Amino acid sequence: MKNIDKYLSLLAQEQEGLLLTSRYARFYGAEYDIAEGIAVVTRKGSRYFTDSRYIEAAQNNIRDFEVICTDAAHPYNDLLNEAIEDFGITVLGFEEEYLTVAEYQDLAKNLKAELKPLNKKLAKFRYVKEQWELERMRKAQEITDRAFSDVLPRIKAGMTEKQLQAELVYCVLKNGGDNVSFDPIVVSGPNTSLPHGVPGDRVLQPGDFITLDFGALYQRYCADMTRTVALGYATEEMRKVYDTVLTAQNAAIAATKPGIPGKQIDAVARRIIADAGYGAYFGHGYGHGLGLQIHEDPNCNPAGDVIMEPGMVASSEPGIYLPGKFGVRIEDVVIFTADGCENITTSPKELIIV
Ligand code: ZN
Ligand code: ZN
Repeated sequence: MKNIDKYLSLLAQEQEGLLLTSRYARFYGAEYDIAEGIAVVTRKGSRYFTDSRYIEAAQNNIRDFEVICTDAAHPYNDLLNEAIEDFGITVLGFEEEYLTVAEYQDLAKNLKAELKPLNKKLAKFRYVKEQWELERMRKAQEITDRAFSDVLPRIKAGMTEKQLQAELVYCVLKNGGDNVSFDPIVVSGPNTSLPHGVPGDRVLQPGDFITLDFGALYQRYCADMTRTVALGYATEEMRKVYDTVLTAQNAAIAATKPGIPGKQIDAVARRIIADAGYGAYFGHGYGHGLGLQIHEDPNCNPAGDVIMEPGMVASSEPGIYLPGKFGVRIEDVVIFTADGCENITTSPKELIIV
């Protein structure tokens, strides 16, 4: 099924339309990425508006929409009102999570149709990925795995977190990433107890844990991976915490299957970490959905009520963070299959000492 047909299925009546403003929804509906633009979807026809910087690419690649150029003489609001009139639209569903207050006020004031929040329903189509989307996600994850093995020999005592971050980004791009899927987290030593710490000027030293949380962006799809490695040596306590996180992750991945809510998978990892005495030190969710965005629904966290289905994708990232000491997180990405899951992250998970 084409994505635009999924969007059309939301329209109960001919007078209803959809206004796609976010890059994610426009990409999903048109199955082609244009950095800026607005699209309208109706049962009588669909139009994609963008400006001269992107118009040629849009015209050559977007099939299911009439592609129209906006310019000073044809501002977006005029083109939108034209479409509203031509297709007889009275209600436009819109993405309330992706408009600023100013943008919303401008549209509400000037468009000749009523605006109705529809973000949640639009986003739900992205829960279960199409095969072509999964192919891109596997490729993004493969690039991420290669970047990790490339960056390992570059980790040296004496370099700063920021310098290692630069090497990591380089390795992602060199291996075919279009970009990184989010600002990489590269933290060391006591900073590893900050689950989302920001790379700084701290110098790496022997006995450090180093946490690398990063991913490639490939054809708009995000990869995500975390590995925690030790520099020089690891103490008994570091090994114990590492093994606990890994045991929790392996058990939760083994319990990952469709037909259950995400929170049930979270609970498997949480139980093992709690039983080892570290329950108070695993504050975040076990896993999040990802795809066009690095964080998207449905989640495998304590609030994850969505019943998981084949084709959904989620991260698997338990962690233990001991304030002032160190932290460990290990993260893979899995695709839900008919009877379990496929782990698309292949980097080794036994403790690596660099
Ligand atoms: Zn991550
Ligand atoms: Zn993640």
